[in-house]
Amino acid sequence: MRLCFASNNAHKLDEIRLLLPHVELLSLADIGCHQELPETQPTLAGNAYQKAQYVWDHYGVACFADDTGLEVNALDGAPGVYSARYAGPAREPAANMAKLLHELGAQPDRRARFRTVIALMRGPGDAHEFSGEVMGTIAAAPIGRGNFGYDPIFVPDEGDGRTFAEMTLEEKNLLSHRARAVAGLAAFLNR
Ligand code: IMP
Repeated sequence: MRLCFASNNAHKLDEIRLLLPHVELLSLADIGCHQELPETQPTLAGNAYQKAQYVWDHYGVACFADDTGLEVNALDGAPGVYSARYAGPAREPAANMAKLLHELGAQPDRRARFRTVIALMRGPGDAHEFSGEVMGTIAAAPIGRGNFGYDPIFVPDEGDGRTFAEMTLEEKNLLSHRARAVAGLAAFLNR
């Protein structure tokens, strides 16, 4: 089975390749798409559908897209759907983490969750949604150099105290929000 993963994020593609070994995963570059996909909706699901629909409409390729947000309890769920551009349009992970740590300050409640929504689009009337989440806490400062995005400040509750950035891709995939959403997608594709 061939499916395009509608994202320009190479880290996400690496994660998902390990989770969907029986799917021939195409990147956006593989289908000739080299532009930024539109992502202007106010919800994770809205953005995931918008990106998948865009690829279907312009390239006619079966695809899925994900959108992820980091929701911090003490910040009323921020940055949430605005996680990528939290510190500005440059989408700079270090600046995003610095802003988040600054906003949180010495706040004792450091609970947070990552949430991912995946939209699968295989044509008109053949759209499906999957989601996954992981609960955790925000570290006092970034730790670790692996993986990507907010991983250096996120400590999953079900882990051993390390941040996602201190884990291998395989370790992160055992408990991550995206892995859980992809598990739903995989079960659907294999049914
Ligand atoms: P998007 O899903 O690519 O729009 O990601 C939104 C924001 O969340 C970006 O700043 C990403 O770097 C970040 N992000 C998405 N997935 C992860 C993850 O698995 N770990 C850490 N940060 C992530």
